[in-house]
Amino acid sequence: MTTATATRKPRQPRLTVAQKAEALLANSHLWLRARAIGNTARCIGYLIPSNTVGGKYHLTNGKQCDCKAARAGRHCCHVVAAAAYIAQKRAEAAQAAAAAAAMLTDDAAHFTRWSATVDARTPEAADASDVVLAGVA
Ligand SMILES: [Zn+2]
Repeated sequence: MTTATATRKPRQPRLTVAQKAEALLANSHLWLRARAIGNTARCIGYLIPSNTVGGKYHLTNGKQCDCKAARAGRHCCHVVAAAAYIAQKRAEAAQAAAAAAAMLTDDAAHFTRWSATVDARTPEAADASDVVLAGVA
């Protein structure tokens, strides 16, 4: 008697949209910036590599996407990944702006200390020093 043993390939667990988006975000260095024709300084979205078709990219701006799922009205991983990326970049820009503002404030404080030092070296201050020195001598 022969027994047939089915050799089935283990089924890959289905990933959620959030898991796929997380994987895409981890590879955001592979994304391409989409720029407006005639205004190449303006980023209008990102071209994100397709999860299923090699060499294919999906255009998304974090709100809309041209992939099959989005066209079918479903929530897609490209939109989620791009929205997270944009939020992350905005937070980084806000943090950099805050750091720059703090640096300017520090500069203002430094300037105030510096000008106080200069004021202390004015002729009147020098006279005061002379008085103290004269008292010691
Ligand atoms: Zn999509």
